[in-house]
Amino acid sequence: MKQNFISFISAVSVILIFNTVIIGQSSSSDDLKSGINPENYDHSIDPNSDFYDFACNKWFGKNPIPPQNSRWGTWDVLIEQNNEVLKKILEDASKNTSAAPGSIEQKLGDLYFTAMDSVNIEKAGMEPLKKYFEMIDGISTQEEFQKVFAYLKSAGSGGLFSVWAGQDDKNSRNVILQFYQGGLGLSGKEYYTKNDENSVKVREKYLEFMRKIFTLLGNDNITAGDISRRIMDIEQRLADASMTRLESRQAEATYHPMSFQEVKDLMPDYNFEILFNEIGVSDAGKLDKGINIGQPEFFKELNRMLTDVKLEDWKNYLKWNLIRNNADKLSSDFEEASFEFYGKTLRGSLEQRPRWKKSLSFVESAMGEPLGQLFVELKFKPETKTKALQMVNNIKESFKDRIIQNDWMSEATKKEALKKLSTFNVKIGYTDEWKDYSGLEINRNSFFDNMIRASKFRMKQNMNKIGKPVNKNDWFMYPQTVNAYYSSSNNEIVFPAGILQPPFYDPSADDAVNYGGIGAVIGHEISHGFDDQGRKYDSEGNMKDWWTEEDAANFKVRADMLAKQYSGYNAVDSYYVDGNLTLGENIADLGGLITAYHAYMKTIDYNNDLILDGFTPSQRFFLGFAQMWMINYRPELMKTLVKTDSHSPPKFRVNGTIKNVEEFINAFGGKEGDPMINPKDKRIVIW
Ligand SMILES: [Zn+2]
Repeated sequence: MKQNFISFISAVSVILIFNTVIIGQSSSSDDLKSGINPENYDHSIDPNSDFYDFACNKWFGKNPIPPQNSRWGTWDVLIEQNNEVLKKILEDASKNTSAAPGSIEQKLGDLYFTAMDSVNIEKAGMEPLKKYFEMIDGISTQEEFQKVFAYLKSAGSGGLFSVWAGQDDKNSRNVILQFYQGGLGLSGKEYYTKNDENSVKVREKYLEFMRKIFTLLGNDNITAGDISRRIMDIEQRLADASMTRLESRQAEATYHPMSFQEVKDLMPDYNFEILFNEIGVSDAGKLDKGINIGQPEFFKELNRMLTDVKLEDWKNYLKWNLIRNNADKLSSDFEEASFEFYGKTLRGSLEQRPRWKKSLSFVESAMGEPLGQLFVELKFKPETKTKALQMVNNIKESFKDRIIQNDWMSEATKKEALKKLSTFNVKIGYTDEWKDYSGLEINRNSFFDNMIRASKFRMKQNMNKIGKPVNKNDWFMYPQTVNAYYSSSNNEIVFPAGILQPPFYDPSADDAVNYGGIGAVIGHEISHGFDDQGRKYDSEGNMKDWWTEEDAANFKVRADMLAKQYSGYNAVDSYYVDGNLTLGENIADLGGLITAYHAYMKTIDYNNDLILDGFTPSQRFFLGFAQMWMINYRPELMKTLVKTDSHSPPKFRVNGTIKNVEEFINAFGGKEGDPMINPKDKRIVIW
């Protein structure tokens, strides 16, 4: 599904969040308080020849990736700390059998209790899926197929495409129904169409995973293999008709507003009424403002497939999607098969996470916001919000100066840019209005049924937004999440409580660390409003061109040069960063770092010019920035990310950025020709 917000670190981290244990010296609170840890510097490396390695190299060897993880770094240490808090909340809630029925404590406690009940989950085997399989087995007509599909879709499965309620890109006040390509078990078209070594291996392993599942369902090996190949044929057709990641990141490429009638004409063989009934948008008024179809060509092909593909194959496809989405909630044989592929092959994890971490991630996927409500009561102080807001304002002010001083943009475009900046909405900590979960029933009877009800509830919650004014208190991240985002439709930057903690943010620490850490994150999110996609949206969150032709051309020259730089960076083995796929993030990293630095220059700490740990204020700022990115990766995960993630690998988020930054050169006294300094004619400053 397309996100209408851009996160600071890869979305994969949401999955990885619960995949961590505390190890190594960097987890003690003293180290975190100090912000920059001098023990991590490698003095055998010249900062002007490899700044990232200079700042972080000693950390890598001391912090191996735990077997359950595919990544281990600064972010994970904090995520793990948050997890411990969340675990305590859930354990207390599940022990508290006297919580008021219907309260969020009761629901969180009961859900966690059933998720932890591995004995019953094991005993049930695939029993929880039985009633859905019976529905699928009972299909004998195309109409019945569409009915069962719609039912499964409303329960968070089904495949084929994504459907959700989101803001209209050109009229951000309207929430409309959105359709987007989907239905693939591998993350994106590229895995089905590319023939590099990794893609071929992943496809083979995926087929193996499928075959394993169908043997677990009672088929012999040959039948299971045959079913798997037929499902793969369906996915291959869906993939061939899909846009690439690169194509679909262009905002205008996925904007195709249509009337309901036009949508019906696009897919004459698909009965939308059946789906709309199931997901709760049958009320005609809900479709008045139109429907957006992300990729019309994909949906045309899907329409052809409805009748081309045999009903028997569709039935197996539905089963596959049901089980693929739920294998981790079933007995260990299914769980292990799923881990073998999604954990080992795609991420390189060696072991499964302990039960409590899986359970925590289930609870979070079902009731993340209510869980966050209890989290902030324990972990978030009002003064953190006040201080963080002050910092956001300082950095916004610095961005404003950067626009005014910009030397490649006309006054007319600057005026619009400043207008957009002035209307930025800032959210810090957590929402002012918690979502209502009273309609969700959670009990201690069945973990699987709890999760299905939660999926249906979330779908309904989302669809309820259609036709109503946009709720400004909606958050696309949970309060406990260690991340941040920019939303182009809301023109807002959002910083959850989860990230407003050491080492990213510590109100009592040196300003250098705070500005190099959370300051760079804040600058990054602001810059997203002006990256190659964000710049297409105006101050009201509408896709509208506010650039003069010449300014747009000036922007493009710089953006293209930046893309070219990053495409030259080798990520792992023979795999290179895709400078175009990561362009928006790289622009945001570059703009964010410079903007945060200029805001830092106005602080008392900077102007006191004290040397701490042998480094000047400017040097500490850049060191703090680099140490935010101390992360070890397994090569399997890195290969997956290079293909799928819009963020560059950490090393290039640091080195790729600073190579363009004059302020870095001045701070470390580098000279032309040093590896950390791009030649003057190739040095790019956009914001
Ligand atoms: Zn970003």
